[in-house]
Amino acid sequence: MHHSLIAHLAQLAQHQCLPGLNKPHLCFDDIAPIMHQLAHHPEVSSQLVGHSFNGTPIYRLSVGHGPLVVLGWTQMHGDEPTATAAVLDWLSLLVDQPEFSPAEAWQHQCTIHIIVMLNPDGARLQRRENAQGIDINRDASVLQSPEGALLMRQVEQLKPLVAFNLHDQNPYYAAGPAGAKPSTLAFLAPPFDAPETIDTRRKRAMQLIAAMYQGLRAVSEVGLARYIEGYSPRCFGDNIAAHCSTILIESGACLNDPNRQQARSLNVVALQLALTHLLHNTLDDFALTDYLAIPENKEDGYCDIVLRHVCQQREQQRFFTDIAINHSAEAPYALITAIGDLQPQQGFIEIDCDGLTLLPAKGVRVAPGTKLTEEIALNWLKAGYNHISQCEDSLTQEARKIGLKVQNSPQLYPFKGDTAALILARNGKPEIAIIGARV
Ligand SMILES: [Zn+2]
Repeated sequence: MHHSLIAHLAQLAQHQCLPGLNKPHLCFDDIAPIMHQLAHHPEVSSQLVGHSFNGTPIYRLSVGHGPLVVLGWTQMHGDEPTATAAVLDWLSLLVDQPEFSPAEAWQHQCTIHIIVMLNPDGARLQRRENAQGIDINRDASVLQSPEGALLMRQVEQLKPLVAFNLHDQNPYYAAGPAGAKPSTLAFLAPPFDAPETIDTRRKRAMQLIAAMYQGLRAVSEVGLARYIEGYSPRCFGDNIAAHCSTILIESGACLNDPNRQQARSLNVVALQLALTHLLHNTLDDFALTDYLAIPENKEDGYCDIVLRHVCQQREQQRFFTDIAINHSAEAPYALITAIGDLQPQQGFIEIDCDGLTLLPAKGVRVAPGTKLTEEIALNWLKAGYNHISQCEDSLTQEARKIGLKVQNSPQLYPFKGDTAALILARNGKPEIAIIGARV
């Protein structure tokens, strides 16, 4: 790769992000002022392309007026907002910062259309599905959702050469085998038929991904990966891949980056790289082997917490296991996702439990009229109580806030799928408690 291009990319990776979008969730009200501002830019055109099931407007922003047509869409899944922020950053950078021009007079060579936030109802509800409860990305063949139907119409009308399907993945993917970093961006050139034919369109998508991967690799150390997915006829990417070169980009986790600002920024670099290579006609520098050399996106490579080498005593027998725990931002409780030899999995938090033994479940009975405070709860944990066995109804809500469960007859030891309410003791004295999502 040219030195000048790498220097340019390094600069691009440091670009300013638009304010107001560094949040865990984005809904239409968050982006409306920025959309409005962009729509009034002389180089941007804004088109109302439809409405969500609940009537929220869905807009397409477009820049350039050349024959090479690129179409992208974001937040088809309402709870996947990272690329929404990224495309707004990218469009404003393209029209306001000529130093990042992808090519001489690029506006005459290409037209870029972006449908920003395809699923505003899901975004408002912080849910994957739309207001009908439909996963839009399983609606591509029956088109019962207004959002899916409008996307398909846009593809048919605009006839893009390249399409970008922009999503978020769960935070637990690793960019390769055991020991790899979290997968901050993952790519796929989806197949358009069951035999997974590689025609000229799909080949172009693979070359674009190889180009984006190598460019990103030159400026960032984060985990980058490639999805391996068979043909799924209900999904949009797979359907649209029959019309044009289609690229799925999944934004993912990065350490100490809860709002995925790394992925946001690297989406901009990736999109800019793709556009630059398209405009300069340099895709033949990349081979299918370059695509296949990208590490595989591994599911469950990570979990939130791993307890290593926990001593357990069940039925008077002693053995050692690792315990993996995940929590979602929405749930007050964390769940045990696996027990056993979890060497291939990494925890965002790793706790060495050598010398610690898991205590059996023990419930505290709370006297009527007791007011629950964090301090009281902490004292219960120190005494080895991991749940409340009896209390007044009014206390149940308070307990839930702290992460303590009220259970009448819990099992003595945890299994996969159970709420994490674990107390680990050294020589019989409680030392570590994992209650709710807290250690
Ligand atoms: Zn998604």
